[in-house]
Amino acid sequence: MLADLHCHSLKSDGDLSPSDLVDRAAEQGVTMLALTDHDTINGLAEARARAEMHNIELISGIEFSSVWNGIGIHVVGLGFDETHPEMLAAIARQEDCRLLRAKTIAERLEKLGIKGIWDKAEAIANGAQIGRPHFAQALIDMEKVSNMAQAFKRYLGAGKPGDVKTLWPDITEVVGWIREAGGVAVVAHPDKYKMTNTKLKSMLKAFAEAGGNGLEVVSGATEVTFSRRMVEICNELGFLASQGSDFHGPRPWSELGKFTKMPEGVNPVWTHWAN
Ligand code: AMP
Ligand code: MN
Ligand code: MN
Ligand code: MN
Repeated sequence: MLADLHCHSLKSDGDLSPSDLVDRAAEQGVTMLALTDHDTINGLAEARARAEMHNIELISGIEFSSVWNGIGIHVVGLGFDETHPEMLAAIARQEDCRLLRAKTIAERLEKLGIKGIWDKAEAIANGAQIGRPHFAQALIDMEKVSNMAQAFKRYLGAGKPGDVKTLWPDITEVVGWIREAGGVAVVAHPDKYKMTNTKLKSMLKAFAEAGGNGLEVVSGATEVTFSRRMVEICNELGFLASQGSDFHGPRPWSELGKFTKMPEGVNPVWTHWAN
């Protein structure tokens, strides 16, 4: 049993098609997989068909963008009803939000003198949910920066002109959609928010009060000491523990099914669906 409950395909900002992603997951020994593209479920049908061929259990998944107190927070939805009308309406609104945000990012970068960034980024996204990584690639192609990290550091990361996050819904709203559709709402990669312990705790409490019921105790190479702290929070706030690679494509530091070991003493989210 190996569950990877967080990864991306080229339907958002990943490199692989849903089919290639599932093939790779099978090679890596993954037996339960959730494809969690940013704000879209466009890859699920293809992934599910492929997963059946490999006898992999495919759990419905999505990674929603949201805000809490002005900070961008990612909430993973797992095991929800993919046909739930309100969920589908919410996803459609997120898609609109993404497009609007992308246009604002483009306008801001154009104002900085980066002409033609919109056409370039849109072409790179090629019908996927357009996001900052597509702008980052455009900036690389236009030789404005030399790599992804630099693109985020100079143009797209927190506090930079391309960091447009105020359009995203409040975290409580996103939790509501997932729970209404029968899913588990999971705070993604809690080690990535650059928050103090106190702030992280307040965010997780607000999330729990809104009905949030899961936490990614392990996300890729999460530090063991951090994971242990998250286990304590899970037990305190009643969260199910989740794990995932947050794979976007083959990288020296990222692979499907590869992450820090889940500590003992948790209630793993996958026992929900394991058969
Ligand atoms: P977006 O969903 O459009 O807000 O873009 C966020 C995505 O950008 C994340 O899911 C990561 O895949 C990617 N990302 C964020 N920060 C960085 C960074 N510093 N370097 C490379 N990729 C990043
Ligand atoms: Mn991403
Ligand atoms: Mn994320
Ligand atoms: Mn992700």
